[in-house]
Amino acid sequence: MSEESKTNSLLRRLPSVESVLKTETARAFSESAGLKRVTETARAAIEDLRVQLVSGETDNELSRERLLELAEKQLAEKIENLNRQKFQRVINATGVIIHTNLGRAPLAEAAKKAILETASGYCTLEYDLETGERGRRGRAAEELLCELTGAEAALIVNNCAAAAFLVLSEFGKGGEAVVSRGELVEIGGDFRVPDVMAQSGTRLVEVGTTNRTKLRDFEQAINENTKLLVRVHPSNFRIIGFTAMPSLSELAKLARERDLILYEDAGSGALVDLSRYGLSDEPVISESIRAGADVVTFSGDKLLGGVQAGIVVGRERIIERLRKNPLYRALRVDKIVYASLSATLEIYRNEKHLAEIPVLRMLSQTKEEIRDRVGQFCSEFKVQVSSMENQNSEPGTLNLELAEGFSAIGGGSAPLARLETVLISLQHERLSAKELENALRKSAPPIICRIAEDKVLLDLRTVFESEEMEIAAALLRILKQTDFFQG
Ligand SMILES: *Cc1c(COP(=O)(O)O)cnc(C)c1O
Repeated sequence: MSEESKTNSLLRRLPSVESVLKTETARAFSESAGLKRVTETARAAIEDLRVQLVSGETDNELSRERLLELAEKQLAEKIENLNRQKFQRVINATGVIIHTNLGRAPLAEAAKKAILETASGYCTLEYDLETGERGRRGRAAEELLCELTGAEAALIVNNCAAAAFLVLSEFGKGGEAVVSRGELVEIGGDFRVPDVMAQSGTRLVEVGTTNRTKLRDFEQAINENTKLLVRVHPSNFRIIGFTAMPSLSELAKLARERDLILYEDAGSGALVDLSRYGLSDEPVISESIRAGADVVTFSGDKLLGGVQAGIVVGRERIIERLRKNPLYRALRVDKIVYASLSATLEIYRNEKHLAEIPVLRMLSQTKEEIRDRVGQFCSEFKVQVSSMENQNSEPGTLNLELAEGFSAIGGGSAPLARLETVLISLQHERLSAKELENALRKSAPPIICRIAEDKVLLDLRTVFESEEMEIAAALLRILKQTDFFQG
């Protein structure tokens, strides 16, 4: 028989969609995904197999049964790929606490509970229990913010970018805002101060130089079109060395004298002083208010440690104008956000934040505490490896070592903060660092880690204790699989 007719006879033995649907894998998948989806996926799996056969990658003598097995295997791979594309929880072993790509702040227990409770019924979103009438949307969360920051009033929108846009649209439109050149930053994720200004219809007036701006620079830029003096926290970078910047209270005095609004975009917005943890130049919101800022914006899911939200605090007359701006209607948040943000803010009010807000707990963990966790993890893991059922593999194909290193705050906060940590450095005898990292990333749940100098590094600072077991299980699975392949 010619090669071509061999292939043709092979293709005739390709399993039908019906027969693939009868396999164990297809039946299990159709229970969760439904018949339509499993049929489409099975068809695609058979097509993949056909392409493989035509390209001659497979043996030409395959039986019908063997082809069905191959199709089922292809289907299983496709299902795994589909599952990987799902929105899902991951384990963050990168040591970057506010990891924007991984969803920034993990929530406190009380915040999770509040979400669940609010989601499963009705709530007081815009309802006043005292009068039985319509109430102000999100009042409880706003009052907590006032209490915690010392501001007269507060407003919550979708994120800090929305908050900045709202403030500039209301107060800057058609006029000018004065900003130091050293603060015209890009925060990442496309938030650029000059672009937000332009979108809001505010003309940007840059003053000073990249490294030095003086009060006099602000003074000289003020004219009859000036509406705002703007201060932006540079967040993800620092200018160090020969620098100068007027203090917020100096700017506040100037703004008052000239009847202007002083607006600070504080970005990461710490509610408490975190200088003890190396975050000495993170603006504390209450200090900005005390220094005389008229309006301050910050994120809910950075150092505050809550859900995505943009928080505006400041003078009552300013907040009330923002509330009346039609844009607010487009930028306002859902009941779920109010529920979880209120619960998070209550933790601060009860002064339990260091123990209960995950971001702050991770931040305040000492290197020695992490070293203890790493030691415990490694010794338990070694016990598990030695009692592994598949004893034909010698334990020790995966080498775990302790290594000193640094965690990061992330989320565009405190780029200079160096959090000392103890890392687990992994080396596999037969897998490269890239392959091991890939296998961890493709585990369920996915484990995200970093690679340095050809080693996979796990930082337990950002791993919850309950997740350590999952990491150990994933490593054991990888060990078994690679041993199997080496067979
Ligand atoms: C992070 C940040 C923003 C953007 O905040 P989002 O909540 O992500 O919209 C804006 N300004 C500053 C200074 C920031 O640090």
